[in-house]
Amino acid sequence: MPDIISDQHQPKLAMSNESVVIIGGGPAGLSAAHECIKGGIKPIVLERADKVGGISRTETYKGYYFDIGGHRFYTKIEEIDRLWHEMLGDDFLKVRRMSRIYYQGRFFNYPLGFANALMNLGLVETSLILLSYLKAQVWSHPEEVNFEQWVCNRFGQRLYQTFFRTYTEKVWGTPCHKIQADWAAQRIKGLSLIVAVSNALFGGQKAKTLISEFDYPLRGPGMMWQRFQDVVGANGGEVRLNTDATGLSHENGRIVKVNYVDNGETVTIPADQVIASIPVTRLVALLDPKAPKHVLEAASNLSYRAFVLVGLIVDREDLFPDQWIYVHSPDVRVGRIQNLKNWSAAMVPDPKKTSVAMEYFCNEDDETWTMPDSELIDLASQELSKLGLADTDDIMDGFVIRQPKAYPVYDDAYKEHLMVVRDYLATFDNLQTVGRNGMHRYNNMDHSMLTGMLAARNLSGANHDLWEIGEQDEYLEADKKAKAQRLVPEKILTKTFARIDKLAFATAIGGVSGLFMFLATIWLVMKGGEMVGPTLRLLSQYFVGYSVTVRGAFVAFGYTFFCGFLFGWLFAYLRNLFLAFYVYSAKKKAELLSLRDFFDNL
Ligand SMILES: Cc1cc2nc3c(=O)[nH]c(=O)nc-3n(C[C@H](O)[C@H](O)[C@H](O)COP(=O)(O)OP(=O)(O)OC[C@H]3O[C@@H](n4cnc5c(N)ncnc54)[C@H](O)[C@@H]3O)c2cc1C
Repeated sequence: MPDIISDQHQPKLAMSNESVVIIGGGPAGLSAAHECIKGGIKPIVLERADKVGGISRTETYKGYYFDIGGHRFYTKIEEIDRLWHEMLGDDFLKVRRMSRIYYQGRFFNYPLGFANALMNLGLVETSLILLSYLKAQVWSHPEEVNFEQWVCNRFGQRLYQTFFRTYTEKVWGTPCHKIQADWAAQRIKGLSLIVAVSNALFGGQKAKTLISEFDYPLRGPGMMWQRFQDVVGANGGEVRLNTDATGLSHENGRIVKVNYVDNGETVTIPADQVIASIPVTRLVALLDPKAPKHVLEAASNLSYRAFVLVGLIVDREDLFPDQWIYVHSPDVRVGRIQNLKNWSAAMVPDPKKTSVAMEYFCNEDDETWTMPDSELIDLASQELSKLGLADTDDIMDGFVIRQPKAYPVYDDAYKEHLMVVRDYLATFDNLQTVGRNGMHRYNNMDHSMLTGMLAARNLSGANHDLWEIGEQDEYLEADKKAKAQRLVPEKILTKTFARIDKLAFATAIGGVSGLFMFLATIWLVMKGGEMVGPTLRLLSQYFVGYSVTVRGAFVAFGYTFFCGFLFGWLFAYLRNLFLAFYVYSAKKKAELLSLRDFFDNL
C-alpha cells in the first residue's frame, strides 16, 4: 500500500492569514480542510446541506441510519487508510463481505462462483453459456466500440444477456450498445494481464476489484465525515452548514469573492484561495463575470445519473444475510437492495427490526425521480415482497432520499466537453477543483479525498497535478516505490514472455554446435597418435564425408551447424507457441476474474 506522506509535502503556509474557502463539505472538501489545518491554515468550508459527507453522508430516520448507497471503505493509499483508522479508532469495523445477485427467482453468489452458477442455471443453460463463450473466442465482433460488443467479445452473447445487460441498463438508463467500450475497460483496469499472471505465479497483492472484506464506521459513513468536521472545527477552521455558494466573483484571472446564501441572506466573503468540490457544471455557472459561451455550453453537456433511495423498516429480525443484493431481474425496477444491519448492527435502533434501502437509479427529470414519496414507498414495498424478501404486511414504515448527481456520466463526448471546462478553469490562479463531481471523475472516497489533500498541499507551493490522480496509479512518489517492489516479478515475467527470435536463436545454436565440433575435430587432429579420434570418427556413419582431419572439421561444422540450427528453430518455435497459449489462457482467466466483481465497479 503506498504511503503518500513525506515531509516536503506538508503545507508550510507563510500565508495563514489568507482566506482559504473550500466549497463543499463532502470527503474531498473536508480532507482539504483537514490538510489545511495540519499546515496551520484555518479554512472556511461552505456546505449547502444540513450535514457534512456529501454523497457519503449518513441520513437518519426515526433512529435508523441510512447510507446513500452502501459505502465500503477500502483503499490502497496507506495514508488515507491510516487517517480513517485514526479518526474512528474502534468505531471503524472490519466487515466480511456477503453479496449476491438476484436473477430469475434465484440468488447467485457474488463474486460469481462456477459451482453455484451451475447449480442455479442448470446444466443446459450453463452449457449454452459455455458454447456462446467459446463462439465469442473464435468469432468475435471485429469492432469493439460499445459496451455490448466489449462484453460479448469477452464473455459471449449469452452471459451478456444473463448477467450484464439488465443491471448495467438499470444503472445507466441507456441501452448497452450506447455505452462506450472504453468505460468498461477503465472500470476494471485493476486487473491487467500482467498482474493476473504475476499473482498466479508469485502470489501477492490482489487486484483492486477483488475485495472480500472492507472497513465500515459503526454508524455509517457520515460518522467519519462528522469526525473530520469536529477536528477542523476544534482547530480553528469553520464548517458552515446550510450555506449554499451562489457566486464566485473574479478579476484578472483570480477569484476574489465568494457569495453564499445563509438563512435567505446573501453573504460575501473575500477569497485568496478557493478549493471547490461542487459539481464542475455548477461551478462554471457560478462565475461572475460569466464564463465564455463555449465553456458554458461544454459544461451544460456534462451529465449525471441520479439515485433514489427508499428506506423501508421491516418488522422482522432477519431478512437475508447479505450486505447488499444486486437485482438483475428486469421485472422489477429496483437495482440494488442494502440490508443496513448487516453492515453494522448499530445501524438499527432495535435489533428485532430490519431496515433495507431499495436503490433506484434514475435521471433527475424522469418518472422515478418525480414520483411522490408515498408511491415510491408502495413501489419499493411491493418489489421487496415480489422478490420474496419480505411480506408487505411486515413493512412498518418508509421514507425517501433523492440524491442528485450521484454518478458522473461518461458518454461519448464527455472527454471533449470536460477538457474545454478544465482548460478554462485552469486560467484562474487561485482556484482548484477537487473530488468526484468537482472533476467529473468516477472517484471513490479515497481518490476524492486525495485530490482535496493534494490541493491543500499545492497552496504551500507543492505542484500536484490533481487530474493525474486516479488516471495513473503510479502518480504518487511513494506509490512508485511500492510499485517498484511489485514490479520485480512483473519484470521477470515481461522478460520471460518476450518472444524468441527463431532465426537468431537457431543461428546461435547452430553456430555454437558447429564450432564445438570443429574445435573438437581440430583438437584431435593436433593431438595425433596411431589412431586419430577413434570415437569421433564414428560420426561418419551419420555425417557422410566426415573424417577426423582438418577438412573433416569443416564438414563437421557444416553438419552440426545445420542440425543445431534445426533444433534451435524448432525449440524457439515450440517455446513461442507454448507461451502464446499460456498468455492467451492467462488473459482469458483474468477476464473471467474481472466478471467476478464487475458490478461493484459500475
Ligand atoms: C451509490 C454510490 C455508492 C458509492 N459507494 C462507494 C463505496 O462503496 N466506496 C467509496 O469509496 N466510494 C463510494 N462512492 C463514491 C463516494 O460517494 C464519492 O467518491 C464521494 O462522496 C465524493 O466526495 P466529494 O467530496 O468529491 O463529493 P460529494 O460527496 O458529492 O460532496 C460534495 C459536497 O458539496 C456540497 N455542495 C454542492 N453544491 C454546493 C454549493 N453550491 N454550495 C455549498 N456546498 C455545495 C454538497 O452538498 C456535498 O456535500 C459511492 C457513490 C455512490 C453514488
